[in-house]
Amino acid sequence: MSAVRVPLLDVSAQNAPIRAQLLEAITRVVDSGTFIMGPEVQAFEVELAAFSGCRHAVGLSSGTDALLVALMALGVGPGDEVVTSTFSFYATAGCIARVGARPVFADIEPDSLNLDPAAAAAACGPRTKAVIPVHLFGRASRLPAVQVPLIEDAAQSIGAAPLSGIASCLSFFPSKNLGAFGDAGALCTNDQSFADRVALLRTHGSRPKYVHHLVGGNFRLDALQAAVLRVKLPHLPRHTQARRAHAARYRQLFAATPRIPPELALPPDVPGHIYNQFVVRAPRRDALRAHLTAVGVATEIYYPLPFHQQPCFKDLGYREGAFPVAEAACREVLALPIHPELTEAQQGYVVEQIAAFY
Ligand SMILES: *Cc1c(COP(=O)(O)O)cnc(C)c1O
Repeated sequence: MSAVRVPLLDVSAQNAPIRAQLLEAITRVVDSGTFIMGPEVQAFEVELAAFSGCRHAVGLSSGTDALLVALMALGVGPGDEVVTSTFSFYATAGCIARVGARPVFADIEPDSLNLDPAAAAAACGPRTKAVIPVHLFGRASRLPAVQVPLIEDAAQSIGAAPLSGIASCLSFFPSKNLGAFGDAGALCTNDQSFADRVALLRTHGSRPKYVHHLVGGNFRLDALQAAVLRVKLPHLPRHTQARRAHAARYRQLFAATPRIPPELALPPDVPGHIYNQFVVRAPRRDALRAHLTAVGVATEIYYPLPFHQQPCFKDLGYREGAFPVAEAACREVLALPIHPELTEAQQGYVVEQIAAFY
């Protein structure tokens, strides 16, 4: 196996041009001595709300915790059901089970790979307390017309979809479009009382200190992460532009390269897509991936197994074949490098190597 010539992510290349600002922000926090909550977290929340076009943003410890606290704030618990896509990162479904509710899965649309709104609506019943659509890979999901609150899993799609649900949950995991220096997340909402409940749950439901109104948790965003995110947020539109330009170049390169089989499907070109991932559907996917690894092109399979086939959800009683669109996607999807720092030469090499494989 050769050394990696095209990584899936290059955080060092992203940090290099803003290194001085990042260190200055970190130093500011170190010198302030305020590491829990405080002015950096507050300022980031104001800046994030403005960026997202939402009234309120609440900084949280991770995208997972944003989903969890959103369900807690809605009072979802044992006996309740929450409908979501069977094809997403584990946290989307895990949070439903963690509050004691039953995850109810629905299939995806073959072109967008997002939750099928009609299937989601059909999966709703008298016990349904919420639906969690996922804006997967940076593409806005169509939303189901349902009578229950929508919690949007926007972990991969900051800025891609205007908020329509009660809340949108963001992740700043380093591989997301806006990445922190560790775990971090946020919840955006236009509902003042919901924002207030989330903020209360974030610090063990206490207000003031040591008087606990709700059973919450420790879901706080670190001041250090907030300071880093404040430096990086203004660069996000430029990074998103770069991702979109890379997607356009992939389309040109694939179209212009002989020996690419017509069955190799690129993600549909839709306006507003922010390409957290550039996920193709590839014939002989696993062999292609092995070839790319051997020639130094990093790829990933998001996701190899749908929720309804996960061992931890076996007791829910779903069968193989229950959601054929998602199951087919799991066999065919392959994420190619699309981080902002990707060079033209690297992209050319990726497409050349895919053609070489076929
Ligand atoms: C990353 C991700 C999460 C979880 O975010 P963390 O910050 O890693 O906890 C949830 N849902 C989706 C779709 C994700 O991609």
